[in-house]
Amino acid sequence: MSAQDAATRLFRELTGRDADGVWSAPGRVNLIGEHTDYNDGFVLPFATPHRTYAAVGMRDDERIRVASTFAEEPVEAGLSELELTFPISAEQDAWAAYPLGVAWALLLAGASGRGVDIAIASDVPVGAGLSSSAAIEGATASALNELWGAGLDRTALASIGRRAENEAVGAPTGIMDQMASMLGEADAALFLDCRSLEAQSIPLGMAEAGLAVLVIDTRVAHAHSTGGYRERRASCEKGAAIMGVPALRDLSTADLPRADGLMDDITFRRVRHIVTENQRVLDTVRALREHGARAIGDLLTASHASMRDDFEISVPELDTAVQSALDAGALGARMTGGGFGGAAIALVEQDAVPAVADAVAAAFAAAGFAAPNAFAVSSGDGARRDG
Ligand code: ADP
Ligand code: MG
Repeated sequence: MSAQDAATRLFRELTGRDADGVWSAPGRVNLIGEHTDYNDGFVLPFATPHRTYAAVGMRDDERIRVASTFAEEPVEAGLSELELTFPISAEQDAWAAYPLGVAWALLLAGASGRGVDIAIASDVPVGAGLSSSAAIEGATASALNELWGAGLDRTALASIGRRAENEAVGAPTGIMDQMASMLGEADAALFLDCRSLEAQSIPLGMAEAGLAVLVIDTRVAHAHSTGGYRERRASCEKGAAIMGVPALRDLSTADLPRADGLMDDITFRRVRHIVTENQRVLDTVRALREHGARAIGDLLTASHASMRDDFEISVPELDTAVQSALDAGALGARMTGGGFGGAAIALVEQDAVPAVADAVAAAFAAAGFAAPNAFAVSSGDGARRDG
């Protein structure tokens, strides 16, 4: 059964009637630009063909109920008491903070909501680096925006999703995932300035170039809201403060020698990753425009080296995925997403996808790692109404 049918069916099971509509939003793969978002910098993600669907209908009261094929039981709350709902401490209900957090953030933004029932189903793998969290936020935000007549544009809805994730879920993420999910376009990446939220669609032309993006999910679980992610953010803020700039976005590679003299080695290497990564995003956009997807491989691989050596957010499984893909002929490869697990991507010849996937699997087996899950992705549409 498709995820859309599963959402529709779950809604009927939950309420005994048909939904008023079905909305969906995709996950995302970040082509390049990692940890640059919360430094006011540049990112270049694209939307996945995998999507999360929300079948939604209005109620006659002021309550909101959310159900997911992912969860045993629906979770219910009064619209006026959502404020008190977060953080959700019962582990089996924790997922509900995403859709309930979106409703809460929309109400805070001035939407006047009536009660709703929301049924969710998805084919975005969870915790695999594809941002299933942005997908559930985007689907819910699109649905409620329309049903509640809030009239927010896509960029504003991305901010609603981010607010839900930051404040209701408690994960200190940037805006990239939600923007990619809301504004993605088929066969294009989204070139996003995370300071101005100005977004441009950059054609990828993967199929015309005979290329594919292979996602290699290492199956090593990552946890954004803990440890390393917060530490990296703190280092970036410290580096910007030492350099006297509002954000690391305001530095260029020409500032790096001065930075080196002003801060400890770890902070400097964190700063160097962000500054060079911003430049690599700009270089990738130019290469795509001028020469096409075939020209970006080395930039992807350089991004990985910077995350491995300077930002120190890779893990052995990600390094093995990248190196074995390159050894098997990939044009470029890098870990993608927040790091400490999750997925890598490799830019490969279309007809070499199975061979590269096999080579990566063999390298994982030789290293004693659990088998990875590799699959090719094209770029899909952003959030939309489906029915
Ligand atoms: P990811 O990298 O996939 O975004 P996150 O930890 O940020 O990983 O978000 C995953 C969480 O989002 C899940 O643990 C769950 O709480 C919630 N989630 C994602 N998709 C769904 C879904 N279809 N139904 C219910 N909850 C979901
Ligand atoms: Mg996420």
